[in-house]
Amino acid sequence: MSTVHLPLGSTIGIVGGGQLGRMLAMAAAKLGYRTVVLEPQADCPAAQVANRQIIGAYDSLESLEELASSAHVLTYEFENVPVGGLTHLSRSVPVFPPVGALEVSQDRLAEKRFFEKAGIATAPYRVVDDQQMLEAALAEFEGEGILKTRRLGYDGKGQRRFSKDDVADDAFADLGAVPAILEAVVPFEREVSVIAVRARDGEMVFYDPAENVHRDGILATSTVPASISTATADAAIAAASAVLESISYVGVIGIEFFVLADGSLIANEMAPRVHNSGHWTEAACLISQFENHIRAVAGLPLGSTARHSDCEMHNLLGREVAEIAHLAAEPDVSLHIYGKGEARAGRKMGHYTRVKPRL
Ligand code: AMP
Repeated sequence: MSTVHLPLGSTIGIVGGGQLGRMLAMAAAKLGYRTVVLEPQADCPAAQVANRQIIGAYDSLESLEELASSAHVLTYEFENVPVGGLTHLSRSVPVFPPVGALEVSQDRLAEKRFFEKAGIATAPYRVVDDQQMLEAALAEFEGEGILKTRRLGYDGKGQRRFSKDDVADDAFADLGAVPAILEAVVPFEREVSVIAVRARDGEMVFYDPAENVHRDGILATSTVPASISTATADAAIAAASAVLESISYVGVIGIEFFVLADGSLIANEMAPRVHNSGHWTEAACLISQFENHIRAVAGLPLGSTARHSDCEMHNLLGREVAEIAHLAAEPDVSLHIYGKGEARAGRKMGHYTRVKPRL
């Protein structure tokens, strides 16, 4: 158990001011910590509930330094934070999760190699650095595959899927002529994710795997329990444990898997942060992923991940947020709205979790 923790009233700096930062700031306040958020957009979702916002770019050294000098520990809510800036800051203030995990998760190729090294299966893939390599890789995968940019892809962006009769034409250029990989299409039966937490002293806890449904590359629902065997659930947790141990991780990580017909797992990707497929923990567990992340970075003992209810989390995208009055009328629904202005199509505006207490 941790013996030294961040004194109450200390400040946690958060890079990124979206909904994840918002929920982290709320969890920090619950535990008696202050938060300062770095985000270029004024009045962002996190700034509405944090103690302070620094308005600045994530890659501005000046803004990052201001954040570091205002906080006792730093964390981040999304993957595309420049590694160089955080590495620099980590010499003067602790940064959790470790910057090495961020670096791996920013590059799909590095991530695949990392999983392989940890003994975790991935989809077959080929490196694609030009159109010729793409065509060769597609031929190897018999015309089927998903071309993904190595960097800066999220929610299905920076991707193109090829079916057997598709022509690759100028696909590499169309995706920006940037380093990419071609992944074989995995014939999965379902998708699951594990939200895992590691404390500064090495203690680890795991939430039950969630079963996720994506629409247009964006998470639509997470259902717990997932319809998988105990052996598959145990394998997912063992894989998450291997990932956390191998990089002396601190904080929450989300790892997504494909489940094949025989119950075996293929790791898709990992996010070194609180994760959308873990939002259900807020309504169905005593201690949410957000609180456990704050506990981990603050050096507090981790909280119970036990699940008191079965549940289904739904994202509210774009104008779906207008359903709030109907949802609020349902007795078994826990709502969470992010305070974003414009309800653009596909934008994550909030989520709700329908809970069913376990007997
Ligand atoms: P990603 O951006 O890699 O998380 O992909 C978004 C979604 O696309 C995944 O959650 C899957 O539903 C689907 N997908 C990604 N990669 C593959 C693959 N290799 N085979 C089949 N489906 C995939």
